[in-house]
Amino acid sequence: MSKHVSWFEHIPHSLQSIMRQWNGHLTQELHLQTGPHGLGKLPERLMPEKVTTAVCGFCSTGCGLHLHLKEQSAINTSPAAQYPVNLGKACPKGWEALSPLHSTDRATTPYLRNEAGQLQAVEWDTALKTFTQRFQDIQARYGKESVAFLSTGQMATEEMALLGALTKFGMGIVHGDGNTRQCMATAVVAYKQAFGFDAPPYTYQDFEASDVLVFVGANPCIAHPIMWERVCMNRHNPKIIVVDPRRTETAMYATHHYALNPKSDLMLFYGVAHLLFQYGWIDEHFLTQHAQGWEDFRTFVQAYSPDVVAQETGINMEQLQEFAEMIHHGKRVSFWWTMGVNQSHQGVRTAQALINLALMTGNIGRVGTGANSITGQCNAMGSRLFSNTTNLLGGHDFLNPEHRRKIANVLHIEESHIPQANSWSYDQIIEGIELGKIRGLWVIATNPAHSWIHQSQLSQLLNQLDFLVVQDMYHTTETAEVADLILPAAGWGEKEGTFINSERRIGRIKKVSKAPGVALADFYIFKLIAEYWGCGHLFWEWESPEASFQILKRLSKGQPCDITGIKDYAMLDQYGGIQWPLPEGIVLDCNERRLFENKQFYHPDGKARFWFDAPQPHPEPTDVEYPFLLLTGRGTSAQWHTQTRTQKSSVLRKLYPEDVYVELNPEDATALNVQSNDTVRITSRRGHLEARAVLHATVQRGQLFIPMHYPVTNQLTHPTFDPHSRQPAYKACAVNVESQVMERRMQ
Ligand code: SF4
Repeated sequence: MSKHVSWFEHIPHSLQSIMRQWNGHLTQELHLQTGPHGLGKLPERLMPEKVTTAVCGFCSTGCGLHLHLKEQSAINTSPAAQYPVNLGKACPKGWEALSPLHSTDRATTPYLRNEAGQLQAVEWDTALKTFTQRFQDIQARYGKESVAFLSTGQMATEEMALLGALTKFGMGIVHGDGNTRQCMATAVVAYKQAFGFDAPPYTYQDFEASDVLVFVGANPCIAHPIMWERVCMNRHNPKIIVVDPRRTETAMYATHHYALNPKSDLMLFYGVAHLLFQYGWIDEHFLTQHAQGWEDFRTFVQAYSPDVVAQETGINMEQLQEFAEMIHHGKRVSFWWTMGVNQSHQGVRTAQALINLALMTGNIGRVGTGANSITGQCNAMGSRLFSNTTNLLGGHDFLNPEHRRKIANVLHIEESHIPQANSWSYDQIIEGIELGKIRGLWVIATNPAHSWIHQSQLSQLLNQLDFLVVQDMYHTTETAEVADLILPAAGWGEKEGTFINSERRIGRIKKVSKAPGVALADFYIFKLIAEYWGCGHLFWEWESPEASFQILKRLSKGQPCDITGIKDYAMLDQYGGIQWPLPEGIVLDCNERRLFENKQFYHPDGKARFWFDAPQPHPEPTDVEYPFLLLTGRGTSAQWHTQTRTQKSSVLRKLYPEDVYVELNPEDATALNVQSNDTVRITSRRGHLEARAVLHATVQRGQLFIPMHYPVTNQLTHPTFDPHSRQPAYKACAVNVESQVMERRMQ
């Protein structure tokens, strides 16, 4: 450790040795890769001394990146040609993965807000003592449940698991959630109810093998560009169907685009199911043997005749017929969805409507098929299984006494340490702040002051907290700027661990650069907090990320996500990542595996379930005062979520507009007397923003689109939540548009 750390001598010796070890070196087994798949000829000054491979730290695709090292530090990245995910390709974010590490606004030391209200640099010892004292005081005064945490899908799985164990088993915290609530909660609930476990069934090879691909509320061209590359490698001349109100980049490439009315997708899929049943285009043998509830579903969808559905969705009866026929004639039909489905007031039932279509046509468990949720963040899947928030570690259940016993045994802790209740969800934690029930909040590697729905309300609530701690790479995020204490964290490339990608593939991240100043990997910040809190003895076995990976294996034993057959980190390197499950004793003879090939689902009877409910009215329909519907989504492949990292890259910044823009239909623009690049004011019942008008028929009349990456976008969004997943419905709220160019209006 550096000379700043006199405090360091006061922490236990066992921890000192871990910290010295961690701070001292990069990942051990970095190696030089040359030869036919190596680097070719480079100028001497650019020739790296070593190259290693790690998975990218942005999206859930989980591309393998070569990290080129010189003088013990990474100098560049390039896509790994042999990694089974990306096969030598990367999007702009992957090429620029190292740039965010070198930004001048890195948090290089802890900062504590002083009496004058200024954030002031302090040593770790002060920061950790303050953290402990303030949160323990709040708990003593208002109860254990008065301190909560909000975490992320961006940390390594080992870090998430340690955080979840520390908070819930060590610190007595009951309520903690992740920003995965904002993107994946709907898919989790949909899968659990339908399959008996949160189990995306596919492998990326399915993109290449389908002859019909249905994308719903998904724009992989820019949101998951390397997955889209896999679609482009499909040699079956596939039909590509895009269901999206907006003419997205993916819709432009599709063979069929169904531009339905926003949030009418549930009705549309019931209409398609109606036709499939009507014509007998179902796999009755599969349904009889392997599913429950399909006969009730058949009765239910009788009400969704083509004329009814056409009226509600804007998709005419011929298109409906065509859609059903394509599914029927497809030999390998795959259904893919992402945020357009998940971020909805009825997202779970919509996702399950897609699952129902896959099940009723037998398009599951075979090559090129599946009801496939594409995940968002690089480690959203790790969070779903191991963050100890919604589920007890390893996909277990807090409410199940057997599960609590099992986890206590694996972790060598008293069962009484494990809460017997579920956590509040993200929105309930925010509501808890409003009601004064949550008084202390620890925010780790996420930025709710930008990303949470109905932003102005949240900003007020954060100021209401007695103590707000932000743990992040940067001291400049919107949330860090209002924190009482900032803990400086290492970023991707500066620490070790594993991520789990969309197709369930566990891959490694590596330390190829030293974190600036006294910033530490989140893993070691959690270790230090455990020591200062007085519960470090509960986590003695969590010595390092790799030691913790061995704990994760034991936690997974006997679960659908069993990974006891993965020996160690080296084995992950050897195979280019490994998909779960891989139980002990199973030989890994193929590294592209899908679930349910044996048609056995995870419910006790082995059968899948049909779930359905009547579509609910749009929560905020348009009216005279707010006559437009605002759609939100990804802007470009160079932007990532709140842009905390992507805006640090001068290269990426050149690939997207810096100022807020709104896509407006040209006919609406004419009616509003708005011209291209005019400034317009968009107003909702919750706030307003000004944006540059981009006139394009990508949006239908009466609709607008603004990318989610700008902090002001969520001034407008409407706080509605899916009742089953509690995921926010970011996608469609009522707004008004006014030109800000007064002169033209006067003419
Ligand atoms: Fe990284 Fe995703 Fe881009 Fe691949 S597609 S390089 S994982 S951001």
